[in-house]
Amino acid sequence: MLEMRPNCECCDRDLPPGAQDALICSFECTFCRACAETVLGGRCPNCGGALVARPVRTAQHLERHPPSARRVFNPDCRNRAA
Ligand SMILES: [Zn+2]
Ligand SMILES: [Zn+2]
Repeated sequence: MLEMRPNCECCDRDLPPGAQDALICSFECTFCRACAETVLGGRCPNCGGALVARPVRTAQHLERHPPSARRVFNPDCRNRAA
């Protein structure tokens, strides 16, 4: 099951489970679309994998399967982007 991390790892913007503009890699490094497209060139700066749209988790599932509350933030992602 996806962790559904609560923020963009690059700019720390909130990405709630209903966000339409959250992207993830296969390890679930999580970024907003703006960072993915402008800063990162569509690739995860941590693993080099492709970033794809994260599915939305609908409200009826959030109670039993809450999203992660652990924020991951790497402000140097801009420097590590290929
Ligand atoms: Zn971002
Ligand atoms: Zn990654």
